[in-house]
Formats: sequence, C-alpha cells, structure tokens
Amino acid sequence: MYEAALRIRKAAEERGIRIDVEFPDPIVVEAGALSRTAPYIQDKGYRKPLVVADENTLRVAGGKLLEQLAALGLAAEKTIVKPDRQGDVIADEASIVQVLLDVQRYGADVIVAAGSGTLHDVSRYAAYTAGLPFVSVPTAPSVDGFNSKGAPIVIRGEKITVQAIGPLAIFADLDVLREAPPAMVAAGFGDMLGKYTSLFDWTFGRWTGGEPYSELVAEITERALLECVRNVEAIGSRTEEGVRVLIDALIESGLAMLVFGQSHPASGAEHHLSHYWEMEFMRTGRRALLHGAKVGVACAEIAALYHTLEPESEAGDAETAAKLREALGRVPGPDEIRALLRKAGGPSTIEELGVGRELLERSLAEAHRIRPNRYTLLRACNEGRVGRRS
Ligand SMILES: [Zn+2]
Repeated sequence: MYEAALRIRKAAEERGIRIDVEFPDPIVVEAGALSRTAPYIQDKGYRKPLVVADENTLRVAGGKLLEQLAALGLAAEKTIVKPDRQGDVIADEASIVQVLLDVQRYGADVIVAAGSGTLHDVSRYAAYTAGLPFVSVPTAPSVDGFNSKGAPIVIRGEKITVQAIGPLAIFADLDVLREAPPAMVAAGFGDMLGKYTSLFDWTFGRWTGGEPYSELVAEITERALLECVRNVEAIGSRTEEGVRVLIDALIESGLAMLVFGQSHPASGAEHHLSHYWEMEFMRTGRRALLHGAKVGVACAEIAALYHTLEPESEAGDAETAAKLREALGRVPGPDEIRALLRKAGGPSTIEELGVGRELLERSLAEAHRIRPNRYTLLRACNEGRVGRRS
C-alpha cells in the first residue's frame, strides 16, 4: 500500500478512529509510473478507456498512454479538451460536455484523466455524471485536489464546487512530473504552504466557532506541509527527490481531506482570498492564474494580517486564549512565507502575481463571505470581533 495511506491508517488505528472512506488503490508515485496505467486498466477488465488530456498533456503523457492501451488491444479513445477564448483550459460546462459527448460516442467504460488539476475536475465530474470510474494520471504537481471527491467547476462564469467522485487509482510518474512547467511546480508548493494559515483558521474555528475538528487529520496535513518546507530547495530545483516530496505531500493532503470529508484542513482564508481573485479575473475576462500561485501569495497576505490581530480576544477562557496564541505562533511571518515562495520559484508578492492593490484590499474586506458558514479569523476580524495588537 502507498506509504502515506498506510501511515494514515496506522495513526487512525492507534487512536481507535475508524476510517470508512476508500482511498484510491493503488497510488503509484515513481519514475515510470505512467507505464503501469494501461496494464492496470486491462487487469480491471475495462475495454474502452477514454483518455482526457489537453494539447500539452497529450504530448507529455496522454499520447504514450494511448499507445500503451492500444498495444494491449484496448479500444482507447481520446478527448482533447479545448482552451477557452483566453487560451485557458477550464473546468466549465463546455469542457464537461465535450468529454460527455465522447463518452457517449465511444461507449467508454472508464475515464483516464491525463493532466493538471483542471483536467481532473473535468474528468471527475464527467465520470460521475456518466456513472463511470476514473483513473488519475497527474502531469504536474500543482494542486492537492487530485484525489478529491469534490469538483470545482465554472458554470456561466460562476465557480461552484460540486460533489463528484475520487479516482480509483493514481499513477504519478516522477519523470513526467519533473518535466512540468516550473511555474506549476512552484504552484503546488504554494498550495501546500497555504496550509500554514488554513490549519490556523481550522484551530481558530474549532475553539471559537464550534467547527468540526480532527487532530489526526490536522497532524497529517501539518506533516505534509513541513516535509515540503524542509525540502524547498530540492522542490525549487525540481530534483527527483524534490518532486517526489511535493507530489507525496499533495496526495497526502488530499487523503487527509478525504478522511475528514470536508475541506477545513486545507482551505482557510488564504483560499477564500484566492477564490475572490479568481472570480474577479473571470468577470473581467483576464487570463486565469495558477491556483497554487494565488494561494501562496494569499497565504503571505493573510499571515501579515493575522500577526497584527489578537485571536485570543474571541476565546472564552484563558486556556483557549493560550491555545489560539500558540496556534498563531506556528504561522510564520509574511517575510518568511515570501522567502519560501521565492525559493520554490514562484511569485511571492501581489505585484509578481499580477493582483492589484485595490483588489487585495477589497478581497481582504469581503472574501470571508465566500464561505459564509466557515468561521475564520478573517471573518471574525471583518465582523469586528477581534482586536488588533498594540
Ligand atoms: Zn488549494
């Protein structure tokens, strides 16, 4: 079994916690993993796989996979998801219907997502809608959502997250992932770094807003985050080891969310800020930014704000106040977060990212409304319930 999956099961057992979700099986993270996909699909008895890719991921993985499937005598077909008018492949109604039409045309019995997080979202929702399983072949270590069950999709220009399905199995080929654009590797690191503030917000929501919490899941997520931070140099230079640490952390963070069943561990105010920026870019017809690039910079901005606040003013007693102070103490300052982002090779400021000052100010004032039922420190601050440090 995949090491992280094993570790999670063992830690749960030690605490007497039952995990009743299925993890993808197998999860293969190694050089050459791509070549294990076709035999797996054949072994499972599928005959008509549909490989979903875009022009780029067809070149780096999808094409080879199609050849290997055909060599085993399977009737493999492909959907090349087309970019939108801005040149971005997005998980919108057009992309989803494009895949569904091919599922019907070819009578596909399994979908293989060969690509980025976006292609996974398109595939997982199309597979769910068609009642088919899907297999994950990530081509870039750029997001922690490969094994997610939810799919963020864009309908009529509005982004919503809908329930879909997780992958049956994951084949993450380190040779393929190392060739991913450096910006996508840095984005994956940014998505992981965002756990500094999401984990803080989760603790804050737990003690002040009655949010559901799991120590096990928080520990798994923090462990994955710290592994990435320790290996930032290797990740920035995209060594095999660096890319392995990053993809393992992204998958492990995804498994943690599966165990918890909600996004609390991996998504706090930094993700709400990122979503706010994304929607603004969509509304104004600007080209989309990488999810993790936004999350990394948003994490630095949220950390900067949080270190000026007194979350303990929301605590009902001294013990809770101490817990909140301790939790905030584990969030690095903005300079340290920006330095880590730079080492990974990604944007570290809103200027480098391409987000304006006015948009930042507006998002800091309004982004908590994106998840009205999530109690974050940003929300408590904007609702006037916490003080500022003097
Ligand atoms: Zn994320």
